Amino acid sequence: MSDAKPAPNERQATRRIDTAGPDYGEPAGPVGRLRARLRVFLENLKVEFFTMGVVIIYMLLIFTDLMLADDPKVDSEAKGKPWTNTFKYVDMVFLSIFTAELLIRLFAFGYFYCLAPLNTVDGMVVLISFGLQAWVISLGDKTIGRQAETASNLLSIARVLRLVRLFVVMNKVQKARAAYKKTKYLKTGSPVETVLDMLGHMKGKVEDEEDVLDIQWVMDLIASDKLYTINIKNVVADVKDKDMAAFLSQEMNIKKDLDLDGEMEADESEDMLDEVRGSLKHQQSSFAPGDPAQAAVLEAQRISELDALLPHLERINQWDVDVFALWEASENMGLVVGTHHLLEQHNLVSKFRLSKPRLTRFLTKMQEGYRNANPYHNVVHALDVLINMNYFLNQENLKRLMSPLDVLACLLAAAVHDFRHPGFNQNFLVATKHEYAIRYSDTSVLESMHIASAWAVLLTDECNFLKRLSHDQFTEFRSTMVQLVLATDMKFHFEHTAKFKTKLQSEGYQPGCDREDVRFAMGLALHTADIANPAKPRQLSLAWTEMCMEEFFTQGDEEKQLGLPISPFYDRSKNSTAQCQMGFINVLVKPLYTEFCQLLGEPAQTDCLSALQSNLEGWEQNGNGLLKQMEVSFLDKGIVGPRAGARSPFPPSPTPSMRKSPSKTGL
Ligand SMILES: [Zn+2]
Repeated sequence: MSDAKPAPNERQATRRIDTAGPDYGEPAGPVGRLRARLRVFLENLKVEFFTMGVVIIYMLLIFTDLMLADDPKVDSEAKGKPWTNTFKYVDMVFLSIFTAELLIRLFAFGYFYCLAPLNTVDGMVVLISFGLQAWVISLGDKTIGRQAETASNLLSIARVLRLVRLFVVMNKVQKARAAYKKTKYLKTGSPVETVLDMLGHMKGKVEDEEDVLDIQWVMDLIASDKLYTINIKNVVADVKDKDMAAFLSQEMNIKKDLDLDGEMEADESEDMLDEVRGSLKHQQSSFAPGDPAQAAVLEAQRISELDALLPHLERINQWDVDVFALWEASENMGLVVGTHHLLEQHNLVSKFRLSKPRLTRFLTKMQEGYRNANPYHNVVHALDVLINMNYFLNQENLKRLMSPLDVLACLLAAAVHDFRHPGFNQNFLVATKHEYAIRYSDTSVLESMHIASAWAVLLTDECNFLKRLSHDQFTEFRSTMVQLVLATDMKFHFEHTAKFKTKLQSEGYQPGCDREDVRFAMGLALHTADIANPAKPRQLSLAWTEMCMEEFFTQGDEEKQLGLPISPFYDRSKNSTAQCQMGFINVLVKPLYTEFCQLLGEPAQTDCLSALQSNLEGWEQNGNGLLKQMEVSFLDKGIVGPRAGARSPFPPSPTPSMRKSPSKTGL
C-alpha cells in the first residue's frame, strides 16, 4: 500500500492551484491580503448559502408585494397604508444589504466581478433601486401633490426594477447550481477526488492520532483504487475450520508462502509431470461437420411436446422445480429443450430473429459438450444453472434493469457456462500443467475455456444463430456473455460480494442506473445461480451435495494416484461432507444470497433463504447422517457420473457414452 501511495495531499495542492481562478493582481501588502481573504470568505460554501437564503427571502417579499400591488382593490386601499409603508422600509434594509455585498464583492474581485454580464446588470439594478428607495423615503410618508406623484412614479420604476432583479437572480441561481455541480465533478477530476478532499478536511479537524491514521488509511485505500479488493488471506484467516480455510485458499487461488530455498524433489516431480504430459496427448478435440438441421429441430420439437416433460416445463419458473426429473423426462435433451423453451418464453427468438435450426444445432453441441461422466459438472448442472438464472431474471427488481438482449445473454451464458468442464478444478489443471492451464496462463483457466470453446462453436456457420443481429447488438451480446461466464470464477467471490453490498447500500439498483453496474449484477446473478445447491429444497440440495462431493473425491483419487497433495475435503476416506457443506454455506453461499436476495426481494427471499437456513440447520444437527435423508440418488441411476461412462483423468471433449445416437455425434 505504501508504495502505491497516491499522495492525496499533492492532489489537493494541485487542485487548489487549478481552481485558484484569475490572477487578481493585487499588490502585496495589507490591502492585497484583505482582498484575498475576502475572496476566500465570499467563495466559502456557507457564505454562498447564506447569501442565497437572503436573496430567496427577498424574492418572496417581492412576490408578495407584486401580488398585492397588482390587485387594484388592495392597491387602492393600501396606497399609503401599512403594507406599502412597511415594505418600503423592509425593501430599504434588503437593498442596503445587497448594496453592501455588491461593494464588498467589487472590492474583493475588482473589475473581474463586472466581467460577468449578469453581475453587472444585477449590480446596476441594486444600486438604482437603492437610490430610488432612498429618494422615496426622503419624500416622507405623507406626500401631497407633485411629491405624491413623484413618489408613485418612483415606486412603479422600483417595481419594474425588482422584476428585472428577480429574473437576474433566478438566472444566477440556476448558473450557480450548474457551476456547483460542475466544480463538484469536473473541476476536481472525479467524485473520488471530492471524497478525498472531504476526508482531508476531516483529517485536519480530528485530534485523536489513531483517527488521523484511520482517515489517512481510508484516503490511501480510495486513491489506490483497491476499494473493492478483498484481502482474501484475511477472510480465510478468520475461518476457524482449518480444512475449510485450506479449501478456500485453494478455491480462491491464494498462493502459499513459497519456500524458495526448499529442496524440491526435482526428479520425482519431473517423473510425475511426464506422466501427466503423456495423458495430455489424448485431449485433442475437433468439431466434425454438423448433423442435419431439420432432424435436430424436429427432434427438439418432439421432445418438448412429450407428455412426461410438459408438467416439468410448466414448473420451470419455480425455484423448487425438480431439475433431475425434468432431465429424465427430456430423453437426455433437457438443455436444448429447456433453453429453447425459456428463450421462447421471453420472446427472444422472434425478437432477435434467431435462426432456429442453427440455434438448435448450437444448443445440441453445447449439450453434448458437457461430460456426463462428471459426477457434478455435467449437463444437468448446466440445466440447473439455466433454470436458476431464469428464476432470478423473472424477479421484477432485476428484470426491470435488463434489456431483452441482456436476458438473451444471461440465459445463453448460463447454458454454456461449464461447457467441456473436465471434472477437475483449476488447481489440478495448473498443478498438472494441463493444456487448458497453459493456454490460459493459469488465469480463470476453466471459465476462459468454457466461454472461448462455446464461442468457437457458436461462430461456425452451422451454429451461428445470431446472423441477424446488428453489429452493435452482436458486440454487446458477446461482451456481456463473456463477462458473465468469467464472473463465475470463485476467485472473485468475496470481492464481488463486497462490491455488490456496497452498491446496494449506496445508490441501489434503479432503472437507468449505470450500464457497468447492470452488467456486474448480471455476472453476480450467474455466479449466484451457479452456487445455488444449498439454497434448494432439501431433496434437491442433498442430491447435488452427493454429486459435488463425488466429483471432489474423484479428483482426490487422481491427486493421490499422481502423488499430488490431496485437496482439502477431496479425500474420500475422511468423510467430511457435512463439515464441507456447513463451511460452504456459512462462508460463501449465505453471505452472497443474503445480499443478492435483498435486491431480488420477495418471493426470492423466502424461496432461497429459508431453504438455505433449513439445510444449514440440517447439516448442523445431523452431520453426515443428513445424506441418509436423500430419497433418490441421481448418481445411482447412472445417468450422469462415473457410471455414465468410462472415467479418464483428462477427457475435455465428450466421451462416446454421452452421444445418444450417431446423428448427435456432431462434435
Ligand atoms: Zn457451474
